[in-house]
Formats: sequence, structure tokens, C-alpha cells
Amino acid sequence: MNDLFEKCRSFEDAKRIQSAGIYPFFRPIESTSGSTVVTHGKRRVMIGSNNYLGLTHNPRVQAASKRAIDQYGTGCTGSRLLNGNLALHEELEHRLAAFLGKEACVVFATGFLSNQGALSALVGRGDVIYSDRENHASIIEGQRAALGETVKFRHNDMADLERVLSLTRSKYQGALIVADGIFSMSGDIFNFPEAVRLAEKHNCRIYIDDAHALGVLGTKGQGTEHHFNMAGEADLVMGTFSKSFASIGGYVAGTEEVIHYIKHKARPFMFSAAMPPAAAGAVLECLKIVEEEPEHLENLWKNASHMSRELMRLGYNTLNSRTPIIPLLIGDDLRAFTFTQKLYERGVFATPVVSPAVPEGCALIRTSYMASHSMDDLNYVLDVLDKLGREFGITGQGGRQDELAALAQHHFGVKSLAHAPA
Ligand code: PMP
Repeated sequence: MNDLFEKCRSFEDAKRIQSAGIYPFFRPIESTSGSTVVTHGKRRVMIGSNNYLGLTHNPRVQAASKRAIDQYGTGCTGSRLLNGNLALHEELEHRLAAFLGKEACVVFATGFLSNQGALSALVGRGDVIYSDRENHASIIEGQRAALGETVKFRHNDMADLERVLSLTRSKYQGALIVADGIFSMSGDIFNFPEAVRLAEKHNCRIYIDDAHALGVLGTKGQGTEHHFNMAGEADLVMGTFSKSFASIGGYVAGTEEVIHYIKHKARPFMFSAAMPPAAAGAVLECLKIVEEEPEHLENLWKNASHMSRELMRLGYNTLNSRTPIIPLLIGDDLRAFTFTQKLYERGVFATPVVSPAVPEGCALIRTSYMASHSMDDLNYVLDVLDKLGREFGITGQGGRQDELAALAQHHFGVKSLAHAPA
């Protein structure tokens, strides 16, 4: 017999990093403008956020959020199903469904609950999820909670998806192919057109997690389907309001029939309190802004393209990302923690991604860019990264570019780094 808490007493991983003075987590933000923050009394450029459109500090969004509090109060004190359903939630669902080009939409309290709720409600005993190996943790929680099984395929590898479909599809009843539209760590875009072809051939439905694609891909930020000019080809699109839409909450969009079913079967929807009024008000205003003010999306891509081009020019391996999420391949975990700490000390706030989130020896610094970053701030970041890359022997003469390129190819399937992203 053992004390349940023994595992907590002997958990040393984080403490070791803390005592080495390179712990990069839970840094308290004292004030923030979105693209810059003050932590430990010092201003730092934020390149570790998902605030892609920079709308958290937009005056229209802030005013709408305050108006929602004035009208509805600070909380819903119950689930949508029972006492917490606001007219504001319904307006948001209608507008969002129209924006995404879907018949209907249901809004959850977070994106995590949306994945967990929708997948567990839909995938019953005898059904199967075909899941990309790099899918987000909330999809994995949905798979765990679902009564059906999960078959994984190699990250963004459509030949592998076809292989597992051919081997296993006939064993199951219903089938759902599930993938992130933009993968949260590597920043790569799912091969949606090929997945659609395979879904048709093997009688599967498709579910895309557009957490990082909403507000980013497509002419107005409608997401992955629109990026490929394939509106309507995903059976279900899920997303979150905790990134481009500057708030908190999540959604699943699809046909009336399926959304109606999810609303009456998804336990995280039925048994958890509704998204608060301030959050719903902010999201509704973000939706209006993306329709009316294209400059935010234009600035986002201008900044992301600038950083992508310049980081590659400095000699970083960015896994060939073509989105505002630009990873920097660093190597082992300790080096990534130390590198992140040096960035921090020089006024740049970024976060490392270490194993098991990435394969051993392939730690990344996940950088991401916003519409609201100024060119001065971005060029400052580049200057710091230029110096640090050389100091760490990652870039520059005698740097580890070849070794890192081999890792990128082996572990992430990155074939060519020759072309600067558009
Ligand atoms: N899916 C993906 C791909 C994500 O990156 C995240 C958040 N990191 C979520 C879902 C969950 O979203 P939320 O923050 O709204 O819970």
C-alpha cells in the first residue's frame, strides 16, 4: 500500500528546472497591451500568445464586453440547457454559423470542452475516429471519453491515412477523420483536400479543429475550408474564442440535425455552466470586426511573412511553417529552456515546447505573431534571436543547421527548407 500523494512528493521534473533558474512557466503578467507585456517589472515583446488579430485590447471589443456585463451580469450561473441560455449566446451562434457558411452552430464554455463534448457525443460504440498523431490534447480527451475506438495516422501523412483506412475501415460502423486545421505546435496546415477525397472514398465524416485557423486562414479568417476554397466540405468545424477572438469559449458548427444532437447529448455542454456574458459580447464584436475591418488580417499576414522570411534568413529551422505560428527548432530540452530564459532576460517572452509534446531531442521555441505587433518590436525580436542563435551555435558559421535539418526531416517530415514562405 502507498500514500496517494507519494507521486506528488517525488515529482522532481519542474523543481529541477526551477532551481536551475530556467523555469519558463506561470510567469505573472503585471500589465499587457497584447503584443507587449510587463513581467518582473520589465517590458517584454510577447511572441508566445495566440492573440493573432490582436483584438484583446481593441476598444470596440472591450466596450462590447462591458455592455454585455451591464445587460446580463457577470455570470450565467448554470448550463445553457437549463437556466444559463442567453439571447446573446443565440445571436452569437447565428452570426457565427453564417460567417462560417454552416447551417448551425453550438457554443461551449471553452474549446477544450467543445472537442471533448462533440467527439464523445458523436462517436459511439462500434464507431471509429481516425486521428492525426499531432492532434490537440482536447481531441485526445474527446477520444478517451468516446465509446468508439481511435486509430491514429502519421502526422499530416495522407498515404498513412489511406493505409489505415484500407486496413481497418470495414471493421467499424460510423467513421470520423479528425485533425487540427493549423497544428498548434508546428504551425503546419492539414492536407484537407486529400483528406476530403479519402473521406469520400472510405465513407467517413470529417471534423476539423480550427482553433488556430479561425481569424487566420481564408479571405476573412473563416478557417481551413475557406483557405482551400472548399467551403462546406468539412462535416463539422470546431474552433475556439481563446485565440483570434480575444476571449474564451468554443464552438462546433455543422448541419442543424447534428448540432441539435450535440446540444442534447454532449455532457460538457449540458452539465457545465454557459460561457459568461462578457466573453460572448466580446466574441460577437470580434465577428463584426473581422467582417468590417480587413486590415487586422492583412497586418497579421504582413507580420507573419516578415518574421518567417527573416527567421529563415538568420538560419533558423522553422519546420517550413507557412502560418503565424513559427517554431524554431532548438534541439534538446535543456537547451530550449536555457534559450527561452535568455530570450526572456533580453525582453522577449516566448515559450518552449519540450518532450513529450515533441520527440526527444526536437525541442522547439514556439513563436507566434500578431496583427498588432509593431515593426520595431518585431525587428527587436529578430535582433535578439540573431545574437542568441549564434551564441547557442544554432545559426551562423559552424552552426547546427544540417543536424537540425536532419531532425526536422526525420521527425516532422519537413522535406525542403529552401523556399521562404509566402
Ligand atoms: N484545439 C486546439 C488545436 C488548441 O490549440 C486549443 C487551445 N490551446 C484548444 C483546442 C482548446 O481551446 P480552449 O483554449 O478554448 O480550451
